[in-house]
Amino acid sequence: MEPLALLGGPSVRAGRAWHPWPVYDATTETELLAALRAGRWTVSWPGPGPSLERAFGEEFAAYTGAAWAVAVDHGSGALVVALETLDIGAGDEVLVPAMTWVASATSVLRVGARPILVDVDPVTGCLDIDAVEEAITPRTRAIVAVHLGSSVCDLTRLSSIADRHGLALVEDCAQAHGAIWSGRQVGTWGDVGAFSFQTGKVLACGEGGAVVSRRPELFERAQHLRADSRSYRDGERRVDEMELVESGDVTGANMTMSELHAALARDQLRRLDGQHAHREVRACELEQLIAAEGGGFRTIPVAPEVERRSIYEFAIRFEPAMFGETPVEAIAAAVAAELERPVYPPDMPLHRSVLFRPTTKRSFGSAWVEGQSRFPAAEEFRRTTLLVHHSAFLGDRDDMCDIVAALGKVAARRDDLPAT
Ligand SMILES: *Cc1c(COP(=O)(O)O)cnc(C)c1O
Repeated sequence: MEPLALLGGPSVRAGRAWHPWPVYDATTETELLAALRAGRWTVSWPGPGPSLERAFGEEFAAYTGAAWAVAVDHGSGALVVALETLDIGAGDEVLVPAMTWVASATSVLRVGARPILVDVDPVTGCLDIDAVEEAITPRTRAIVAVHLGSSVCDLTRLSSIADRHGLALVEDCAQAHGAIWSGRQVGTWGDVGAFSFQTGKVLACGEGGAVVSRRPELFERAQHLRADSRSYRDGERRVDEMELVESGDVTGANMTMSELHAALARDQLRRLDGQHAHREVRACELEQLIAAEGGGFRTIPVAPEVERRSIYEFAIRFEPAMFGETPVEAIAAAVAAELERPVYPPDMPLHRSVLFRPTTKRSFGSAWVEGQSRFPAAEEFRRTTLLVHHSAFLGDRDDMCDIVAALGKVAARRDDLPAT
């Protein structure tokens, strides 16, 4: 076997290009240019007809099967609006998985509430449902459920726990657009669902997000919260009038999505289901190849309730003993060098993350409780998982064979890997 590409040997990939991401074409360019030339650029500026921002909200609600959707500027903003829509605030405890992107927890601090970290299922990296039940106190008001990587949380059990304890359920769907659990899309199981459209996500517009809900009575409130206390005007309006009306029923802040981003998001939404189907074929091939050629690697089983996955970051797991003391970063770097594309471990669990230090800011520090540090399953998940971005699954079967070949080569040459 050749030496590792990381150490100067020839790579498995041998220079062949990967499918590009993000994906766009002449239609995208036409629609972006039209949004530019319309000269409106934001919903908070007059212009004829409904804004693209509103149109995207309606289309995204229809896509997810929610009663409504409100577009916002980021996924992080979507989580803030989601929590504020449910009036979560000072003194409230919100359960958040220890294994997630930092925004799932900082959004709780941004509304003045207290994130209580909860350990995850060692197989999927999603919330450990028993740990959720154990973490509930009289002050608990909400659960933030993160659908991690390509998995979906057990929404059946989470909804019933939330109902039983009178808690709000917020779904962080930033990694799971379009996933279907037991007949319903993610985001419509909880009280509110939050999405991100940052470039890396499966629905991308640079920076953007949305809040969705199955509860119609929350629509007005969510609109106010994201547009400085304004909501959409219905019926006729003069050309100099804005689409937003200053009703002020709920005091919000400005987290609106720009018209240019909305144009891009609408274009990308039309491509999403085709991409889901393509990625699913590739993911099944990779799962079969890994199951057949083994080599000590495994993929995460898909829960029977999942009727459609959203492949965001595809996880490849290995036994803790397989690489001895070699850290996951070094293993990921070796596989990445063979594949000539990023392969990386999951985010550091929040209690170890440099991105999550609430006491560096007074407004966060006062809500945070120190000493939340025992999350063995999250640590193990991080130590024994390699992630491959969804764009790798937009290519062909040969790409999947290369992934398996790269894993096999790195496993065979594990003794050559740097120890730190
Ligand atoms: C990306 C992401 C976010 C934040 O979205 P932004 O648009 O980057 O603010 C929140 N939660 C999870 C789980 C994410 O992956």
